[in-house]
Amino acid sequence: MMASIDGLPPLRDVINTHELFAKKALGQNFLLDLNLTSKIARQAGDLTKCDVLEVGPGPGGLTRALLHEGARRVVVIEQDERCLPALKEVADHYNGALEVLLGDALKIDPMEHLTAPVRIVSNLPYNVGTELLTRWLAPSEWPPFWQSLTLMFQKEVAQRIVAKPRTKAYGRLSILAQWRCDAKILMEISPVAFTPPPKVTSSVVHLERLENPRFPAEAKTLSRVVAQAFNQRRKMLRASLKGIVPDLEDRLIAADIKPTQRAEEIDLERFCKLSELIRQ
Ligand code: SAM
Repeated sequence: MMASIDGLPPLRDVINTHELFAKKALGQNFLLDLNLTSKIARQAGDLTKCDVLEVGPGPGGLTRALLHEGARRVVVIEQDERCLPALKEVADHYNGALEVLLGDALKIDPMEHLTAPVRIVSNLPYNVGTELLTRWLAPSEWPPFWQSLTLMFQKEVAQRIVAKPRTKAYGRLSILAQWRCDAKILMEISPVAFTPPPKVTSSVVHLERLENPRFPAEAKTLSRVVAQAFNQRRKMLRASLKGIVPDLEDRLIAADIKPTQRAEEIDLERFCKLSELIRQ
């Protein structure tokens, strides 16, 4: 068996040894190229003084890269218990710098296992990716427990995160991400890089938190306003936001928005202003 850069067996051997055939229901598309996982880990920022949270380590390709790049500790949440023996080998190799939590990332609170500063780096299962991102972006208090998010999404979702007004991709995710973070796309990853290959192209997104949101707003109200505004994105705001407050048109005008404008035309600042006016 040929050793790989970190002295552990190549991922293909790990998968064969532990019979980790991919399960579609768990969104399992594994990255087996350790050069690629290293590239992702390097672009996540300086990990040496950080704890890293990774959701869905699978056989541990990205996990190994994070540890190899010098992360102080890595905490992973994996739902598939078949992956535990492979992850245990990684934990042993790195003298306990890896902690494995078994379960559903939507239900587990990893906070007590993490010490600040924390960076989150994950090749997320597509079925839970946007839900987790929304939760990480929209806590009521800011700054959050994490410093940055480096996440793999399908390309279309990545484009929504960084989209600007008056584009098709602009929507709730763009607003929530750009309100409190600097967001950029780091790289595109072709389906053939994964085993098995997914149907879509993927992109890695990096979000670095701002210490203070760009404009004042309350997360819950802003989320609700943009969700409703973009739910019927082709409608004028006076129609799509109907019922959200009794005197909607006055508040739209007070936020410098024409009631006949559509959600797509409204920038972040005006959405924040509107959500503050609606909250009052
Ligand atoms: N990080 C690995 C890689 O890059 O090769 C695997 C990525 S694979 C796209 C997604 C992983 O998330 C799988 O290992 C899957 O079992 C796990 N997973 C799926 N749903 C999950 C959930 N709700 N909570 C925790 N892990 C989950």
